[in-house]
Amino acid sequence: MGAPITHFFFESVKALAGNLSYLGGGLVLRRGDFLTEIERLIQETGARALYFNKDYEPDARARDARIAAFLEAKGIMVQGFKDQVLFEENEILTQAGSPYTVFTPYSRAWLARSIEIPLPTSYPTSFRLPENFSALENVFIPTTAELKLYHSRYDFLVTAGERSAHDALQMFLKEAAGAYQDQRNFPSIKGTSMLSAFLRAGNISIREVYHQAVKAKNSLTPEQAKQVDVFISELIWRDFYFQVLYHFPFVINQDFKTSSREIAWRNAPEELLAWKEGRTGYPIVDAAMRQLLKHGWMHNRLRMITAMFLTKHLLIHWKEGERFFAHHLIDFDLAANNGGWQWSASTGTDAQPYFRIFNPFEQSRQFDPKGDFIRKFIPELANVPLRFLHKPWEMPTEVQIASACLIGKDYPAPIVEHRYARERALAAFGASGK
Ligand SMILES: Cc1cc2nc3c(=O)[nH]c(=O)nc-3n(C[C@H](O)[C@H](O)[C@H](O)COP(=O)(O)OP(=O)(O)OC[C@H]3O[C@@H](n4cnc5c(N)ncnc54)[C@H](O)[C@@H]3O)c2cc1C
Repeated sequence: MGAPITHFFFESVKALAGNLSYLGGGLVLRRGDFLTEIERLIQETGARALYFNKDYEPDARARDARIAAFLEAKGIMVQGFKDQVLFEENEILTQAGSPYTVFTPYSRAWLARSIEIPLPTSYPTSFRLPENFSALENVFIPTTAELKLYHSRYDFLVTAGERSAHDALQMFLKEAAGAYQDQRNFPSIKGTSMLSAFLRAGNISIREVYHQAVKAKNSLTPEQAKQVDVFISELIWRDFYFQVLYHFPFVINQDFKTSSREIAWRNAPEELLAWKEGRTGYPIVDAAMRQLLKHGWMHNRLRMITAMFLTKHLLIHWKEGERFFAHHLIDFDLAANNGGWQWSASTGTDAQPYFRIFNPFEQSRQFDPKGDFIRKFIPELANVPLRFLHKPWEMPTEVQIASACLIGKDYPAPIVEHRYARERALAAFGASGK
C-alpha cells in the first residue's frame, strides 16, 4: 500500500477514535504481533468474545482465521460480520451453486435479492467500557513519515472521516446522482460520488450509500431515477469484484483467463516510466496519469484508458500498472483494482474482449471534448488550439511555435503509433490462443 491510502487509513482511525470518545466510548490501539496483542488485551479487559467485520482479501482471511483458531482454543467466542459489501462470499451464486464470473447475470441475481439489504444500524447511544479502560496501554497512530511513506506531495480531494463521507454522499445525491449516467464519463465534470476512499476505509456504510441512493430516486423524475440505477450498478460491480477475489484468490498473481497467460508481454522500462510520469505524448493518457500523481485519485474513465494504453498500446503486463495504481491511489482496493486492471487487459472475468482496444484519440475527443481536463493537467498544451489538442503531434510547425509547444521539446511526440500498437497487441493476444 502506498502513502495516500495509508495516510487516509490513519486519519480515518483518528476520526473514529474522536467519534467514539464523543459518544462515551473509546478505541484502544496496539502495535506488535497481532496474536500477542489481542491475547494481552483480552487478559487485561476480561473480554469473553471477539467480534469483527470480515475482510475478503486472502491475506486478511488467513490472518483472521489464525486469530479465530487461537482464541477459540482458549474458549473465547469469535464472530465475524459482513460489513464491507452488500452481498458476500456465497450469497449470490448460480443455480448450480457456483460463483458468477460474468457481471450481467450476477447483477440480475443481485438485484433480485436487493430487497434483503438491511438498513444501516443506528449509532449506539451509550457504551459500557471496562473499569480499567483509561489505564489500558494505547499507542499513537504512526505517522506516514515514520513509515517512510510521504503523502504531503499529494493534494488530496477528500478528507477522511464519517462527516466528510456523509457530506460527499449528500452532495452527490443532491447535485449529480440524477445525471450520473450522462455525466460520469467526463473527467472535467464532478459527475461521480467520490465515495471510493470513504467506502474503502469504512468511513461510510455501503448499506447507507445503497439505501440513500434508492431513497433519492423517490424525489427524481423516472428518467433521473434510471440514472441513479446506473450508480447502483457500480455498487454491484464493487460486490462482484469482491466475490471474484473471494472465490478466485489466484487472480492476485495470475490472469483469470487461462487463454491469456501465454501473452508475450514486453519488458520496456523506459516506456513504463514515461507512462508513469505522464509523458507518452497522448494528452488524455498523460493528463490522467498526472491527475493520479497530483491527487492520488483518477477518474474511472481515465483508469480504463490508461490501463488499456499500458496493456495494449505498450503491451506491458497489467501487474506493473496495478502495482503503480496501488501505490498512488487513495482508494486502493485489491478487489476493484485487480478487477479493473484485468478487465482492461482482457485477462479477467467478464473482461473487455481483447480486440476492443480504446483509441486514445477518440476517447479524448469523446470524453474531454473541450479539452478542459487536458489543459488543467498539461500546462504545456495550454495554448494549443482545440483542433490539435487531442493529437498535438499533427500541429504544423507554425502552430507549434504560436502555441509555445514544440513537439519533441515542450511536449513529447507519441511514444508509439496507435495503428501499429493495435496490430502488435492483436497479434500478441491472438498468438496466446485467445
Ligand atoms: C484499472 C482500474 C483500477 C481501479 N482501481 C480501483 C481501486 O483501487 N479502488 C476502487 O475503489 N475502485 C477502483 N476502480 C473502480 C473505479 O474506477 C473507482 O471505484 C471510481 O473511479 C471511484 O470514484 P467514485 O467514488 O467517484 O465512483 P462512482 O462512479 O461514484 O461509483 C460509486 C462507487 O462504486 C464503486 N465502483 C465504481 N466503479 C467500480 C468498478 N468499476 N469496480 C468496482 N467498484 C466500483 C466504488 O466503490 C465507487 O466509490 C478501478 C477501475 C479501473 C478501471
